Amino acid sequence: MDPRVVELHRRAAARGDVIPLAGGLPAEELLPRAALAAVIAEAARDPDALQYGWPEGHEIVRAWIARRLRERGMQVDADDVIVTAGAQQALALAAPELAHGAISAGAATYPAALDAFAAADVAVTCDARAEAHYVIPGASNPSGVDLVEPVRAELLASACVIADEAYVELRFDGRVPPPLAAAAPDRVWHVGTVSKTLGPGLRIGWLVPPRGRRAAALARKQAADLQTCGLSQLALARLVDAIDCDAQLARARRQYALRATRLLEALHVHAPSLAIAEPEGGFSLWCETGDGGDELALLEAALAHGVSLDPGHIFRPDATAGPAAFRVCFSYAAPDQLDEGARRIAAALAAWEASGRCAAAPRASGGAPRCAPRSPSTT
Ligand code: PMP
Repeated sequence: MDPRVVELHRRAAARGDVIPLAGGLPAEELLPRAALAAVIAEAARDPDALQYGWPEGHEIVRAWIARRLRERGMQVDADDVIVTAGAQQALALAAPELAHGAISAGAATYPAALDAFAAADVAVTCDARAEAHYVIPGASNPSGVDLVEPVRAELLASACVIADEAYVELRFDGRVPPPLAAAAPDRVWHVGTVSKTLGPGLRIGWLVPPRGRRAAALARKQAADLQTCGLSQLALARLVDAIDCDAQLARARRQYALRATRLLEALHVHAPSLAIAEPEGGFSLWCETGDGGDELALLEAALAHGVSLDPGHIFRPDATAGPAAFRVCFSYAAPDQLDEGARRIAAALAAWEASGRCAAAPRASGGAPRCAPRSPSTT
């Protein structure tokens, strides 16, 4: 991640007057805090909670993950699953498979995936003809559009796919496609997480590597951190027994769909010149300005107008490609802040254009080179 963006977001977080449309956080009120509080003391009393465990994770958690994946049509059992510290660690464990090679990630993608590939010395390209692909099925980050379904067959014919299914259960229409790995388990690395639905603070995600690569991935997991937090795993195991996960998901989909519509409509009213893809799910909108320009300066203008956004260059493998763009999230700000947030975005865009900074060297100051070190923050 571009450290200048991290610094600006840190400073904005310390202010009380910024409408938070950056960062990709789930809605506070959709997280099962009370249910977690009710089970956590019991989890702490489990003898395994404070002990070392196996690097693949607790069997009870792996069994739950495998069952949910089987319900979606994938032939998988608990022994195929590695419990990780979020989807982010799953990406970090998968990436070294491609070390010194290249992976295609589309024109704009999840910034910390770019970080994980850079850390593993994997070049990221926008070239769709590459042999390896990183994709976000169901609803992508940043656009919320399913970019996988239309090219599913081509993807499955490639040598290696890392399928990051972080948002797959958060499509607004409730369609949850089968895991990509169900169709090509020998080539697809399946990545999942509870971060978007039950809470990122739990730091529980998972990796299902192709069977022949499981031992290597598990060795990397052990070398990285020995095991995923035992207390968190045991709390999750109790939490998913205590709540109705499908009802929780249905509620989240409804809420996020309403918020998406609200922000999209407000941006159409206040900033009609933006090109915005209609999201099918996820947490965010991807907005293209049609101009070239310095997206970091756009973030500065936004913060000066009391709203945050994520500048487009952090999402792009090729920071110089495409028009100036930014991501705004509808997931975290209060729903009644979204209209005002859009109004402030429009004012920031006008100021950015008036300052002439939108015509400054396109993304020269904003563009982190492809393999530049990135900060560990996520968006
Ligand atoms: N993948 C995508 C597409 C994401 O947007 C994120 C978080 N923003 C992650 C992975 C990381 O999720 P986790 O909290 O499970 O590490």
